[in-house]
Amino acid sequence: MATEKMQKRPHAIMISLHFQGHITPFVNLALKLASKGLSVTFVHNEFVHHKLSKSHKINEFNLFLEACESGLDIRYTTISDGFPVEFDRFLHREEYMESILRDFPARVDEFVGKMIESNPSLATFLVADTLYSWPATIAEKYNLVNVSFWTEPALVFSLDYHLELLRQNGHFPCKEEEINYIPGIESINTRDLMPYLKEAEMATVAPKIVINSFREVKKADFILHNTIYELEPATLSALNKNQPNYAIGPISFSQNLAKANPATNLSLWPESDCTEWLSSKHPGSVLYISFGSLVEVSEVVIQEIAHGILLSEVNFIWAVRGGMTNALPHGFEDKMKDKGLIVPWCNQIQVLSNPRIGGFLTHCGWNSIQESIWCRVPMICYPLSYDQPTNRKLVVDVWKIGINLSDGVPINRAGIAENVRKFMSASTSKGLRMAARKMKDILWNAIKNGGSSDINFDHFIKDLKAKL
Ligand code: UDP
Repeated sequence: MATEKMQKRPHAIMISLHFQGHITPFVNLALKLASKGLSVTFVHNEFVHHKLSKSHKINEFNLFLEACESGLDIRYTTISDGFPVEFDRFLHREEYMESILRDFPARVDEFVGKMIESNPSLATFLVADTLYSWPATIAEKYNLVNVSFWTEPALVFSLDYHLELLRQNGHFPCKEEEINYIPGIESINTRDLMPYLKEAEMATVAPKIVINSFREVKKADFILHNTIYELEPATLSALNKNQPNYAIGPISFSQNLAKANPATNLSLWPESDCTEWLSSKHPGSVLYISFGSLVEVSEVVIQEIAHGILLSEVNFIWAVRGGMTNALPHGFEDKMKDKGLIVPWCNQIQVLSNPRIGGFLTHCGWNSIQESIWCRVPMICYPLSYDQPTNRKLVVDVWKIGINLSDGVPINRAGIAENVRKFMSASTSKGLRMAARKMKDILWNAIKNGGSSDINFDHFIKDLKAKL
């Protein structure tokens, strides 16, 4: 029986969450697994596939066409979340995520059952986003090895992992205090914790998701982190005492080392090209502004930032998603003249890697941080939700490759103008740039041949095969 099992080819069923910031690392993980000779079935939510097809203007879009043509064994398929593709999941986020918690597990169960039945000759295992509430239950039902993939920093994972400890100490939901009892985290103030751990968000779906998913992840066979050991050694070492954890990041860059860029275009929205506009600007003179793919920025904040940027007189590109353009001040585009460019969505890595870019005003999404480091661009931080305030702590307080936009006080246009001007000035940006360059070296050294992430990935594959 054991021999028969060992001879089967390893086959991953990979199920990603539907957010841009999760899709990108997940797809790159699929490519990496396949490049190690494993078979992969990559499952996208039907509506994500629909959005990708629309954004690429291709009817029968196959995310992995090129990969398959180059000989990798990746099958691409979809699963329905029970809603029509046109349903606005971002507008009805709470209702939608409640349904993902409640109804989606049964759909995954059926899907996985059929997949196993039709692939009896493969040694199937599961790779699911850590934030799902069903992986351990389903893996147990079908006797599958269960790999959990965490797409955020280990610091955030560890805080979520120790929810019970936080609760016992009166910090979940939390009051303002310094915390110094979490294994591998020297000290963190509760104001740097994820907002979903705080009283104000207790009635939303976010804490429910985290409670459920972190109950499940404790039963995972392996946990993959899209981070770098050298950046979070104490946190990762402490986590390793409980379960096998592997820091394999940044996966999007390690997957495509040769090209030094993620190859597959994974944008859920059509990209505007900023190259021509940038070509008329001086090197290092343009501030890139983006709040990522998910968070809603309030009208007040958008207005203050818009006025502040105009007052600062720096050049800027601002990626303002969909409806949020309505919140810009009246006549803003006329006032900014050729100093600014507003786009709904762009190829962020392409923009960040343009030498005209001198800084990134970011919400501190984990992908944005990694991309900024990769392109050696310093950050000015304005975190809003989810993991962002905690990620900010790493960027500003620990790694010192960025500064705060507002230092915890409510933002106003005059303060923004002053901080942005200071941030983009030659003296400030020189120091931050040097620090960012050192961080880039850490990333590069981790993913190159023989680096920590490269070695960890191979260890993971070896340990996985031993368990299949
Ligand atoms: N992004 C992009 N174009 C844009 C804005 C964002 O390609 O105009 C990409 C960005 O490169 C990153 C992802 O969207 O990979 C956002 O992920 P992140 O983790 O930074 O933030 P989230 O969207 O999850 O809040």
